[in-house]
Amino acid sequence: EPELSGEFAEIMKLSNKYAKMKVRTNADTPKDAKIARAFGAEGIGLTRTEHMFFEVDRIKAMREMILADTVKGRKQALQDLLPMQRTDFEGIFEAMEGLPVTIRLLDPPLHEFVPHQLATQKELAEEMHIPLQAVKNKVAELEEFNPMLGHRGCRLGNTYPEITEMQTRAIIEAALNLKERGITCKPEIMVPLVGTVDEFITQECIIRDTAKIIFEERNDKVEYSVGTMIEVPRAALLADKIAEHADFFSFGTNDLTQMTFGYSRDDAGKFLPIYIQKGILKVDPFEVLDQEGVGQLVKLGTERGRSIKPNLKVGICGEHGGEPSSVEFCYNTGMNYVSCSPFRVPIARLVSAQATIKAERRV
Ligand code: PEP
Ligand code: MG
Repeated sequence: EPELSGEFAEIMKLSNKYAKMKVRTNADTPKDAKIARAFGAEGIGLTRTEHMFFEVDRIKAMREMILADTVKGRKQALQDLLPMQRTDFEGIFEAMEGLPVTIRLLDPPLHEFVPHQLATQKELAEEMHIPLQAVKNKVAELEEFNPMLGHRGCRLGNTYPEITEMQTRAIIEAALNLKERGITCKPEIMVPLVGTVDEFITQECIIRDTAKIIFEERNDKVEYSVGTMIEVPRAALLADKIAEHADFFSFGTNDLTQMTFGYSRDDAGKFLPIYIQKGILKVDPFEVLDQEGVGQLVKLGTERGRSIKPNLKVGICGEHGGEPSSVEFCYNTGMNYVSCSPFRVPIARLVSAQATIKAERRV
């Protein structure tokens, strides 16, 4: 864990004195959470849960889940993941000692779980006592040409509600377990890739129903909230409708940039340098928030959301949350916090303070 000392520590202390916008971190493990806290993070703005599914034993459960034909079969496959996820979340809550933690439901494209290799397909067919052809048919059915615009985010949680149920159970049970040990945490459960109000409501219902069942089972409760990523342009446009249901917004400017420009996040590196060299683009919009275009959607989404809920908590968790000019833009938009990778926390704190001072000087 890093330790701040000398002039660095002094500058950070001064930053805290002035900064009005909070700085959280993106962290998926207790280790990252602790590093970020040492750098002064005031919470977690994004825990991506997808990496938690790619270890050997976990991906196997996911593969069995997508191959299962019945709800019962899907729930059974996910049963193995529940205790592991609960431990994941307990570790993160513990590291944050009661600071706010936003956990995002599963977001990778479904295609990453599809068993593409013949050997894996054979193994699964044997273990599940189904014909190899059935596995092959399912793989063909789930194949996508454009996975990043396909079956991912809440689309996954809505077509396989058992995933949302399992993750909610893991989050709420982890919070209850910590409560028994004297650590209060109020999880913020975040739904990814929402584009329509009904997509959000469908997920919200599963989350709230699951939490209610657990509270009855345990005869105990924890506070929690349910919010959404705003990362599909349509969600920014419909932010007022979404805010009627969502407890908070977090702008996913990586996807929002991808979908607003129509540049693939994964392939843009191939031609963006040429665009920049020719002056067609001044900077890489995946690094520096495009205030002229994408920023308009961020402003509009914030305003429309707050027109319904004036105190709506709004943050950003895309890579821009740790880039100085973008952080200043977030301050000017009235965000409650920015969230960035652990090692960018100090710079975000400094910029938050500078933006506050600049704005107050203007007044
Ligand atoms: C985003 O899209 O900005 C975001 C934070 O989510 P991810 O990078 O995981 O898609
Ligand atoms: Mg995203």
